[in-house]
Amino acid sequence: MNSCGEMLSLSGKTALVTGASRGIGRAVAVMLAQHGAFVNINYIQSQEAASEALEMIISLGGQGRLVPFDVTSSDQVDSGVRDVLQECGTIDILVNNAGICRDGLLGRMKDTDWDAVLSHNLSAAFYTCRAVAKIMIRKRSGRIVNISSTAGESGNAGQANYSASKAGLIGLTKSLARELAPRNILVNAVAPGIIAGGMTQSLDEKQLDAIRTHVP
Ligand code: NAP
Repeated sequence: MNSCGEMLSLSGKTALVTGASRGIGRAVAVMLAQHGAFVNINYIQSQEAASEALEMIISLGGQGRLVPFDVTSSDQVDSGVRDVLQECGTIDILVNNAGICRDGLLGRMKDTDWDAVLSHNLSAAFYTCRAVAKIMIRKRSGRIVNISSTAGESGNAGQANYSASKAGLIGLTKSLARELAPRNILVNAVAPGIIAGGMTQSLDEKQLDAIRTHVP
């Protein structure tokens, strides 16, 4: 919606949404397509779920395609972005949504849990922003949205890795916003609270109750 309450038209725009096979990413992809964007649906493993997301888009009259690659590999990100460029000609909108959590209290958190979360939630966004910004800079136009989390703002016991990655993503967003705004590329972060989806499925009632106590 714009400030006059009119529906935003993204007709003719090309979007790339990472981690769009399910959860928040799928919802974002469907919404962008409903507004007219051609959506490149990225995922890594869940081909069936990604195809379902694409079918959903097509059934709603939208357009899109699947573009599987591992966001934690800068080489795969570069070739995935090249692939989108070849097929679609450009990228107008990038949504960095792919992410994971590997929760645990500090003393029990393994190096691999720390590294995996930082590489999925922070380094991946750096790789995609770097690859896509080149295209956006050339055309002096673009929109990048990074999906952070309230955990990146407030911290969360048992989520040192996740909170650090999401706080880092906010820092990355603010720096790129300053760097790229003069080229008419807007970079923003969204910090959702708890959303029912893949990432929250492992939470038990006790953990959900603890989260609910933070909501006034
Ligand atoms: P989800 O349902 O677990 O989905 C994660 C998505 O990321 C999937 O599409 C998955 O693809 C993709 N992905 C994982 N590793 C990948 C990789 N190496 N390369 C490419 N794609 C990869 O997650 P969600 O709950 O919707 O959360 C989505 C984002 O919102 C995350 O960044 C999360 O931190 C953030 N967030 C979530 C909540 C929440 O309560 N759910 C709250 C705040 C912020 P595959 O299906 O192929 O595995």
